[in-house]
Amino acid sequence: MSYEAAMLKQLAMPTRQQVGEALLRALLKHGGVVKEFGAGQEIVIELADECELNDLQRSAFLETIYRKENRLKKSNLWHRLLFRAADSLAKENLVTRPTQTVRLTNKREWMLTEKGLDQALALCNIPAAEKDDLSTKSYEVQKIVKKLLEASTPNNYDPFDRKKTSKSITRESVLRTRGFRQAVIEAYSHRCAVCGLKVKSPDLITWEVQAAHIVPNGLLGRDDVCNGVALCHLHHWAFDVGWFTLMDDYKLQVSPKIHSLPAGVGKIGDYELFGALAAKRTKISLPDKHAIYPHRNAIGWHRQNVFHYGS
Ligand SMILES: [Zn+2]
Repeated sequence: MSYEAAMLKQLAMPTRQQVGEALLRALLKHGGVVKEFGAGQEIVIELADECELNDLQRSAFLETIYRKENRLKKSNLWHRLLFRAADSLAKENLVTRPTQTVRLTNKREWMLTEKGLDQALALCNIPAAEKDDLSTKSYEVQKIVKKLLEASTPNNYDPFDRKKTSKSITRESVLRTRGFRQAVIEAYSHRCAVCGLKVKSPDLITWEVQAAHIVPNGLLGRDDVCNGVALCHLHHWAFDVGWFTLMDDYKLQVSPKIHSLPAGVGKIGDYELFGALAAKRTKISLPDKHAIYPHRNAIGWHRQNVFHYGS
């Protein structure tokens, strides 16, 4: 038995597999990414807490003597174990290494792969069917997100994807849909573009905000950020049914039908839901990059076909 293995045994440290599973659960909680491990870093401490390590287990050092150089090298045993567990996950293609992730995100992080995400969901007893609604990052989806956020849009943009078939669901179309959702909510900083609401579920896994298609997916609307807008559940619904639309200057236009709402309808307490929007006629919050603003051709279609039709 090696010196390190003997020490792991003597201190009753968790196994590499147990640490790997704790890391997968932590990745899910942190949206699919955690920083590259460094001594004293929050994630290193969080995982030690998760594995219920005692003080001795946290502070044990492995000492290696380099005789030639007459030097003693000390390395933290827990830190080494954590790194080895992450390395094993990378070998099984459950996570990507910081060296690989940095090329995609410019950040040195460990990131889940699709396979790792499936495994993390299983470990947390989350049904695989809920995966589509999660905004957890995975390496494969992030590649699509990057492409969508860096896209440039021509003036004569066609918001319809004539080649898209709404019926055939392939692995590619599933990843593309998740990529669209994540790119839109990332572009709008996880906030509703209308009311600014930004909140996660208590388990920190899901954002409340949704990525709304402007030309709907069911009508072959493209999965491009410029055919989308991030909206909270309520404003998503109100937009889809035509309670409001967007003008070319990105100001809100509310349906005149609010004036004929019966008393007590469309209110939260004394707050008039759409009346408040109509009174303000404010501009929605927009992404940093102009190229991914909602496209005029998409919002023009919404005005013509959803808003006027309902008004
Ligand atoms: Zn909202």
